[in-house]
Amino acid sequence: MIPKHWQGAIDVIKSIENAGFEAFIVGGAVRDYYLNKKNHDVDIATSALPEEIQAIFPQTIDVGIEHGTVLVMHKGEPIEVTTYRTESTYSDHRRPDAVHFVRNLAEDLKRRDFTMNAMALSQTGEYIDLYEGRKHIDEQLICAVGIAAERFGEDALRMLRAVRFAAQLNFTIEAETFAAIGQQATSIELIAMERIQVELSKIFTASHVAQGIHYLETSGLAAYLPGQFDATAWHNFNSDNRQVGWAYFCLVNEDATLLTNYRCSNKDKQFTKLVLEAYDCLIRGVKRIDLLRFDLDVLQTAYQFMKLRKQEVTITWQEVQQRKQALPIQSAKELAITGQDVMMWSAKKRGPWIKETLEAAVSAVVNGEVTNDKQQLKDWFHATIDEG
Ligand code: ATP
Ligand code: MG
Repeated sequence: MIPKHWQGAIDVIKSIENAGFEAFIVGGAVRDYYLNKKNHDVDIATSALPEEIQAIFPQTIDVGIEHGTVLVMHKGEPIEVTTYRTESTYSDHRRPDAVHFVRNLAEDLKRRDFTMNAMALSQTGEYIDLYEGRKHIDEQLICAVGIAAERFGEDALRMLRAVRFAAQLNFTIEAETFAAIGQQATSIELIAMERIQVELSKIFTASHVAQGIHYLETSGLAAYLPGQFDATAWHNFNSDNRQVGWAYFCLVNEDATLLTNYRCSNKDKQFTKLVLEAYDCLIRGVKRIDLLRFDLDVLQTAYQFMKLRKQEVTITWQEVQQRKQALPIQSAKELAITGQDVMMWSAKKRGPWIKETLEAAVSAVVNGEVTNDKQQLKDWFHATIDEG
């Protein structure tokens, strides 16, 4: 009954138990197991200290000893093992002032955010469920462990995590937990944008994204986050690609600079920029040169967005693809001439005209004005660019 891909984790737990310590599967893996959902990373919590774990296994990697985490290499597979810990006083709403290792599982479960994430599973398949995690999962409730207001006071990111889990699981945020978010929403501003970005990415790619956006609005969190969050815009949106999610967020907001606010990568920014440009091209009527410039995935994303935004679409997706495939070249790189060639054909000095000429040549080829052939392009060059 324990999933096959957990065999490595079970072996590791058994070894730890044989050495006289406790070890359990904990956190998201237990939640997803109870939900019958696939979860790839299995976390193990143990009563053994990091150095005791290192002594049990021949091959370990020290990834975060100060937080109690050791990677155990088991048959080439890395398995994360973390010592039971508590987190004492949080003076800044985002980090514990100190991490203390403890020998007691209950202490470790108590510091976790939501009841569904605060369960442990033994290697024999027995649940340790001290906070009614399974009951709340059955009721589809996201419920803070302990007093919600205190828990969000310790770490404000948990408020956003509550919304994220609601969007992923289509669960309701339990009333007291929800009220506490409303009261403390402003403290989300204390959290690093990179961490907020991670949670928003998960909301944008969740199966019930509109539910998540709705929660951002109604909890008050949205007021303290850059950009507008309007659930109606997200009702039919569905993507498992975070870049597509961020591009859509920017489209809805008509503001690509939001990616800077959220510290998104340059790659994310580039994708969004291209999608928004392709979107505008599709609206004006897509030209051949546009079809050359944008990759199929960018065009497809922009096309999807047109439909979502209920823009009038005069061309089918099939036609877009066909017209792109029918272009004489599929990339500007396929042009039969280079800057060297045009330099040789002209008496003019090196300068920006070379790049402009190559662009004009690409346009001419794409629009069927000249064949992509060196000699033909030379004739075209003398006839239209360099008449001297
Ligand atoms: P996912 O499936 O998205 O990875 P997860 O529940 O595994 O979800 P993680 O961020 O990987 O989430 O964290 C693993 C576990 O650590 C959580 O299940 C929870 O028990 C605990 N945890 C993570 N972040 C926090 C937090 N900010 N406050 C309290 N407990 C947390
Ligand atoms: Mg996880």
